[in-house]
Amino acid sequence: MFKVWIDAGHGGKDPGAVAYGLQEKDVALKVSLGIKERMEAAYENVQVLLSRSTDVFLELRERTSKANAAGADLLVSIHCNAGGGKGGFESFRYTSASQNSIKLQDVLHKAVMAKLGGTDRGQKAQNLHMVRESKMPAVLTENLFVDVAADADRLKQASVIDAIIEGHVQGIVAYLGLKSKAKEVKTMTQERDINVPSMWAETTWKEVTEKGFFDGTRPGALVTREELGAVVSRLLKYVDQIG
Ligand SMILES: [Zn+2]
Repeated sequence: MFKVWIDAGHGGKDPGAVAYGLQEKDVALKVSLGIKERMEAAYENVQVLLSRSTDVFLELRERTSKANAAGADLLVSIHCNAGGGKGGFESFRYTSASQNSIKLQDVLHKAVMAKLGGTDRGQKAQNLHMVRESKMPAVLTENLFVDVAADADRLKQASVIDAIIEGHVQGIVAYLGLKSKAKEVKTMTQERDINVPSMWAETTWKEVTEKGFFDGTRPGALVTREELGAVVSRLLKYVDQIG
């Protein structure tokens, strides 16, 4: 089981960058929760652990010591940018990063850019606590600028948050080589029209409908105990009549 550590930047009394009605801590939390939900639902053999799943304040050292203690296989710290510039996406590794951190940054950066588009500010190295103190491959992503009007507009769109989430998921999946969960069951329930009988059941469904045991609607829907009771009651009356 791979352990992925997602660190939502800031939180609680520390909102991070604030502009245009956006708080960096909120965007970071939304993206982090989305990564956990999507990755655990769609991929095998992976657990996503979070520095925080609510709006609480954590010191930087708490974040890295928890991730190190958990023995996470990789760490991604989620942030938004501020402080001028023309907007866009950039990522950071430690200045003396391991080969695996460099590889994680490259795969993750390209995957996010592929989904997000816009300005690519590059794969950078900086002496930041989160990427320095993490014992596992670690990358910090800066997902658009809250104080650049065009970026702030984008961060308010659900489709853009979705692209950031999906980009991170795809990057981590590629780095770890995760396999998709089998889709058969999901596909069947998603694509089935419950108002049309399955081919194998057509004759039987016609018969039980004509005899009045079922009313002919929703052949593909699940049945409750009380509905089954009604069918049994009709069946008993039918047997009485023909007997
Ligand atoms: Zn930040």
